[in-house]
Amino acid sequence: MKKTVKKRKTPPTRGPAGAVPDLIRESGVKPSLCIIGCGTLGSYLIRRLLDLHGDAVEIIAVEMGGRRIRNEEEMGVAADAGNTHVASHGRYFGLGGTSARWGGQVLFFDERDNPQNDPTWSEIIRINQRHRRTVLEQLLGNTARSIEFNPDVAHSELSTKLKTGIWLKYSHRNLYKRLVKPLRKRIRLITGRRIVGFQMEEGQVNAVVLKTADGLTETLPADRFYLTTGALESCRLLLKVQSSYPPLRNMPIGKNFGDHISTELFVVHGARPQLDGIDFTPRVVNGSLVTKRLVAVAGNGMVGFVHFVFNKDIRAFRFLKEMLFGKMSTKIGLRDLLQGAGFLFRFAWGMLVKKRLWVHPEQWSVQLDMEQAVPNSNSLELTLQPDRYGEPALKINWEICEEDKKAIADVRSRVEAILQRNKLNYTAKYDPAVPGNKVEDVYHPVGCLPVGEVLSMTGKVNAIANLWHFSTAMLPAARSINPTAAVMCHIEEHLQNEWPPQDF
Ligand SMILES: Cc1cc2nc3c(=O)[nH]c(=O)nc-3n(C[C@H](O)[C@H](O)[C@H](O)COP(=O)(O)OP(=O)(O)OC[C@H]3O[C@@H](n4cnc5c(N)ncnc54)[C@H](O)[C@@H]3O)c2cc1C
Repeated sequence: MKKTVKKRKTPPTRGPAGAVPDLIRESGVKPSLCIIGCGTLGSYLIRRLLDLHGDAVEIIAVEMGGRRIRNEEEMGVAADAGNTHVASHGRYFGLGGTSARWGGQVLFFDERDNPQNDPTWSEIIRINQRHRRTVLEQLLGNTARSIEFNPDVAHSELSTKLKTGIWLKYSHRNLYKRLVKPLRKRIRLITGRRIVGFQMEEGQVNAVVLKTADGLTETLPADRFYLTTGALESCRLLLKVQSSYPPLRNMPIGKNFGDHISTELFVVHGARPQLDGIDFTPRVVNGSLVTKRLVAVAGNGMVGFVHFVFNKDIRAFRFLKEMLFGKMSTKIGLRDLLQGAGFLFRFAWGMLVKKRLWVHPEQWSVQLDMEQAVPNSNSLELTLQPDRYGEPALKINWEICEEDKKAIADVRSRVEAILQRNKLNYTAKYDPAVPGNKVEDVYHPVGCLPVGEVLSMTGKVNAIANLWHFSTAMLPAARSINPTAAVMCHIEEHLQNEWPPQDF
């Protein structure tokens, strides 16, 4: 049975795009904004809307999960994902979404991410640079001021490639928690309902269709809609709209899908993590971990980053990480605990007293995360297979292409030259001459709803007057960063450039 969610005191009467804004204001009804998905970016957006415009609008948030965080299998929405784990291990459902499980490392694009001077990338970088400070202050509070971002230490060729990353304090990781009780009281939160469709009328969304896990449907009207259901589910929903809404037909929805592909290049033995005099040991600033990585540009122009992985073989460290990030796979016995006690003491001493991550003095890994080539033949599409909600499940066609492998091989040889110049003793892990190297995707889904083609730079879906979308899918590629905070910069750009709204 279909019914309409009707909780507002006076439902807004809406006409065609751009109609009678004054009538709405005179009637005393605030324009309504519907945020679809209350995960990482949905929570960030709600908080910023409340901060900046909260008194002028009514905010309704619809979230398919609840307080308990679940994976796609538990939620009944598993994708047919072939050889990528981006759907099964890379997204979580419930309040806070994937931020309840993510690493929480924050970085931004800069001019080094655009070696080919592409105009779309120039604009993405401008937006990142313009709002970086605001996003950092939102996520880190006062700590943002104590962190020197990409300090100007260009005393060697290597130092020009340095990029700073900041792991959010563990307690700041789930972004839904930024919506503290007094703020939550100012929004209408509907949980346990999945958005499964958009009712289109005269070039805009009139209402969204909500479905419960047991199949009941309702419609929810609003003046403006923000789709923040994560890169994969948002793409699935827009593929559905595309199939019945001709203005979207020629847009590359679901095409050129990419991720970072990550591989261990070398293990270094018997030396501190220092290259050309630069120490890569992460530092602790007010509970956040500040890291350094190297921006890597391959000969074919593809961009990625080289970073350093510490304490990989210490079971107690692995256990600690898995415990914190809710993914227990390391089994630990009493013997491990006793052996790990020394490590845990040094770890705690480092974090609390020395303000540095304690790193094993004998061994560290050099890891490369490379973006994937664009254009590529990876894609997202709808299957005929229904999920638990009776919705067409998502199919992900993903592979690592020859161009990707070329980029890895090229950066690998540059990194090896750096290790040799620093006279380090190392074991090679990735061998470009043989098949079967371990290369994995790392849950940074990009490219399938790109700005400049499907969306504007401020996230508006082209050809739909009142629908915006924010997720990493809007970035054409992942380049040298873990990309979530970069999307927050696009949210800030939208809030600064497109308010007060002209469409109410
Ligand atoms: C282990 C791990 C580590 C990571 N580390 C980092 C990192 O260090 N730095 C970084 O930048 N990125 C990292 N990422 C990626 C990052 O977590 C994601 O880019 C980000 O959380 C995605 O935010 P989102 O708001 O787009 O999606 P989500 O946070 O997944 O939110 C989507 C929300 O929408 C809800 N929803 C879904 N479908 C519907 C629907 N149809 N109707 C209603 N609600 C719906 C979901 O329940 C969820 O709450 C990591 C990811 C993983 C898995």
